[in-house]
Amino acid sequence: MMPLALLCLLLALVLLWQASRQRRAAGLPGGRVIYNDTRDWGKLERPLYDRTLDLTGKPDYLVRRNSRIIPVEVKSGRSPQAPYDTHIFQLASYCYLVEKSYGLRPPYGILHYEDRDFAIDYTADLEFSLMDLLAEMRRDEAREQVERSHQQARRCAGCGYRIECDQSLA
Ligand code: SF4
Repeated sequence: MMPLALLCLLLALVLLWQASRQRRAAGLPGGRVIYNDTRDWGKLERPLYDRTLDLTGKPDYLVRRNSRIIPVEVKSGRSPQAPYDTHIFQLASYCYLVEKSYGLRPPYGILHYEDRDFAIDYTADLEFSLMDLLAEMRRDEAREQVERSHQQARRCAGCGYRIECDQSLA
Protein backbone atom coordinates (compact mmCIF):
# COMPACT_ATOMS: atom_id res chain seq x y z
CA MET A 1 0.00 0.00 0.00
CA MET A 2 1.25 3.47 -0.79
CA PRO A 3 2.35 5.09 2.48
CA LEU A 4 0.92 8.39 3.48
CA ALA A 5 4.47 9.63 3.44
CA LEU A 6 3.26 10.99 0.14
CA LEU A 7 0.64 13.01 1.92
CA CYS A 8 1.46 16.36 0.38
CA LEU A 9 1.47 14.87 -3.08
CA LEU A 10 -1.83 13.15 -2.54
CA LEU A 11 -3.37 16.16 -0.94
CA ALA A 12 -2.64 18.18 -4.02
CA LEU A 13 -4.53 15.67 -6.12
CA VAL A 14 -7.29 14.33 -3.96
CA LEU A 15 -8.25 17.41 -2.05
CA LEU A 16 -8.96 19.30 -5.22
CA TRP A 17 -11.98 17.24 -5.98
CA GLN A 18 -12.95 16.35 -2.44
CA ALA A 19 -12.79 19.73 -0.86
CA SER A 20 -15.96 21.43 -1.97
CA ARG A 21 -18.08 18.48 -0.92
CA GLN A 22 -16.27 18.24 2.39
CA ARG A 23 -16.76 21.90 3.02
CA ARG A 24 -20.48 21.68 2.47
CA ALA A 25 -20.68 18.67 4.74
CA ALA A 26 -18.54 20.00 7.50
CA GLY A 27 -18.90 23.76 7.39
CA LEU A 28 -15.18 24.31 7.45
CA PRO A 29 -13.93 27.32 9.33
CA GLY A 30 -13.35 30.17 6.91
CA GLY A 31 -10.41 31.61 8.84
CA ARG A 32 -9.88 35.01 10.37
CA VAL A 33 -7.35 37.57 9.32
CA ILE A 34 -4.60 38.05 11.89
CA TYR A 35 -1.44 40.06 12.29
CA ASN A 36 1.71 38.02 12.60
CA ASP A 37 5.17 38.75 13.80
CA THR A 38 7.28 36.33 11.82
CA ARG A 39 10.34 36.70 14.05
CA ASP A 40 9.36 33.77 16.22
CA TRP A 41 8.73 31.42 13.32
CA GLY A 42 11.05 28.43 13.36
CA LYS A 43 11.86 26.02 10.57
CA LEU A 44 11.49 22.29 11.07
CA GLU A 45 14.44 20.04 10.49
CA ARG A 46 12.39 16.99 9.68
CA PRO A 47 8.83 16.16 8.72
CA LEU A 48 6.39 15.20 11.46
CA TYR A 49 5.10 11.65 11.45
CA ASP A 50 2.17 9.84 13.03
CA ARG A 51 2.40 6.09 13.11
CA THR A 52 -1.29 5.52 13.82
CA LEU A 53 -2.36 6.99 10.50
CA ASP A 54 0.99 6.49 8.77
CA LEU A 55 0.77 10.18 8.06
CA THR A 56 3.58 12.59 7.53
CA GLY A 57 3.88 16.24 6.66
CA LYS A 58 6.15 19.23 7.10
CA PRO A 59 4.68 22.60 7.94
CA ASP A 60 6.76 25.48 6.62
CA TYR A 61 7.19 26.83 10.14
CA LEU A 62 6.25 26.20 13.74
CA VAL A 63 5.49 29.10 16.07
CA ARG A 64 5.98 28.57 19.80
CA ARG A 65 3.85 30.91 21.84
CA ASN A 66 2.67 30.62 25.45
CA SER A 67 3.22 26.85 25.59
CA ARG A 68 1.50 26.41 22.28
CA ILE A 69 2.89 25.18 19.01
CA ILE A 70 1.20 26.61 15.95
CA PRO A 71 1.91 25.27 12.46
CA VAL A 72 2.31 27.74 9.61
CA GLU A 73 1.77 26.96 5.96
CA VAL A 74 3.14 29.49 3.49
CA LYS A 75 1.32 29.97 0.19
CA SER A 76 2.75 31.93 -2.68
CA GLY A 77 0.75 34.74 -4.18
CA ARG A 78 -1.95 37.00 -2.85
CA SER A 79 -4.62 35.59 -0.63
CA PRO A 80 -8.02 34.55 -1.92
CA GLN A 81 -11.14 36.10 -0.40
CA ALA A 82 -11.21 33.15 1.97
CA PRO A 83 -8.69 30.33 2.28
CA TYR A 84 -9.20 27.44 -0.12
CA ASP A 85 -10.47 24.20 1.34
CA THR A 86 -7.36 22.43 0.11
CA HIS A 87 -5.20 24.80 2.15
CA ILE A 88 -7.42 24.37 5.20
CA PHE A 89 -7.17 20.59 5.05
CA GLN A 90 -3.44 20.68 4.55
CA LEU A 91 -3.08 22.93 7.58
CA ALA A 92 -5.45 20.73 9.58
CA SER A 93 -3.23 17.74 8.86
CA TYR A 94 -0.30 19.71 10.26
CA CYS A 95 -2.30 20.59 13.37
CA TYR A 96 -3.03 16.90 13.80
CA LEU A 97 0.65 16.01 13.38
CA VAL A 98 1.75 18.70 15.84
CA GLU A 99 -0.64 17.34 18.45
CA LYS A 100 0.58 13.78 17.91
CA SER A 101 4.25 14.75 17.84
CA TYR A 102 4.38 17.21 20.76
CA GLY A 103 1.33 16.27 22.82
CA LEU A 104 0.01 19.82 22.47
CA ARG A 105 -3.11 20.49 20.50
CA PRO A 106 -2.78 23.68 18.43
CA PRO A 107 -5.89 25.82 18.89
CA TYR A 108 -5.36 27.01 15.33
CA GLY A 109 -2.95 26.99 12.43
CA ILE A 110 -1.81 29.85 10.24
CA LEU A 111 -2.10 30.20 6.48
CA HIS A 112 0.39 32.78 5.34
CA TYR A 113 -0.19 34.50 1.98
CA GLU A 114 1.83 37.33 0.54
CA ASP A 115 -0.59 40.02 1.62
CA ARG A 116 -2.22 38.64 4.75
CA ASP A 117 -2.46 35.77 7.18
CA PHE A 118 -5.44 33.71 8.22
CA ALA A 119 -5.84 31.82 11.48
CA ILE A 120 -7.78 28.61 10.95
CA ASP A 121 -9.27 27.20 14.13
CA TYR A 122 -8.43 23.55 14.62
CA THR A 123 -11.83 22.51 15.85
CA ALA A 124 -13.13 19.04 16.62
CA ASP A 125 -15.32 19.34 13.52
CA LEU A 126 -12.35 20.15 11.33
CA GLU A 127 -10.41 17.23 12.74
CA PHE A 128 -13.38 14.96 12.10
CA SER A 129 -13.59 16.15 8.49
CA LEU A 130 -9.88 15.53 8.08
CA MET A 131 -10.20 11.97 9.38
CA ASP A 132 -13.10 11.44 7.01
CA LEU A 133 -11.07 12.71 4.09
CA LEU A 134 -8.03 10.60 4.94
CA ALA A 135 -10.23 7.52 5.17
CA GLU A 136 -11.62 8.32 1.75
CA MET A 137 -8.12 8.78 0.38
CA ARG A 138 -7.20 5.35 1.71
CA ARG A 139 -10.16 3.84 -0.06
CA ASP A 140 -9.22 5.60 -3.29
CA GLU A 141 -5.63 4.40 -3.03
CA ALA A 142 -6.93 0.85 -3.31
CA ARG A 143 -8.88 1.64 -6.45
CA GLU A 144 -7.18 1.24 -9.79
CA GLN A 145 -9.09 4.02 -11.45
CA VAL A 146 -10.31 7.22 -9.85
CA GLU A 147 -12.66 9.22 -12.02
CA ARG A 148 -12.24 12.91 -12.62
CA SER A 149 -14.89 14.72 -10.64
CA HIS A 150 -14.98 18.07 -12.43
CA GLN A 151 -15.24 19.66 -15.87
CA GLN A 152 -12.74 22.45 -15.35
CA ALA A 153 -10.01 22.54 -17.98
CA ARG A 154 -8.30 25.35 -16.10
CA ARG A 155 -7.91 23.17 -13.07
CA CYS A 156 -6.27 20.47 -15.18
CA ALA A 157 -4.03 23.04 -16.85
CA GLY A 158 -2.56 23.92 -13.48
CA CYS A 159 -2.36 20.36 -12.19
CA GLY A 160 1.01 18.74 -11.60
CA TYR A 161 -0.38 15.36 -12.66
CA ARG A 162 -1.58 16.52 -16.07
CA ILE A 163 1.16 14.74 -18.02
CA GLU A 164 0.41 11.30 -16.64
CA CYS A 165 -3.31 11.76 -16.10
CA ASP A 166 -5.49 10.08 -18.74
CA GLN A 167 -8.47 12.23 -17.82
CA SER A 168 -6.92 15.64 -18.18
CA LEU A 169 -9.04 18.28 -19.89
CA ALA A 170 -6.05 20.44 -20.75
S1 SF4 B 1 -5.13 16.62 -14.83
FE1 SF4 B 1 -7.21 17.20 -14.28
S2 SF4 B 1 -8.32 15.27 -14.04
FE2 SF4 B 1 -6.15 14.80 -14.01
S3 SF4 B 1 -5.61 14.76 -11.85
FE3 SF4 B 1 -5.18 16.81 -12.60
S4 SF4 B 1 -7.03 17.99 -12.16
FE4 SF4 B 1 -7.59 15.81 -12.00
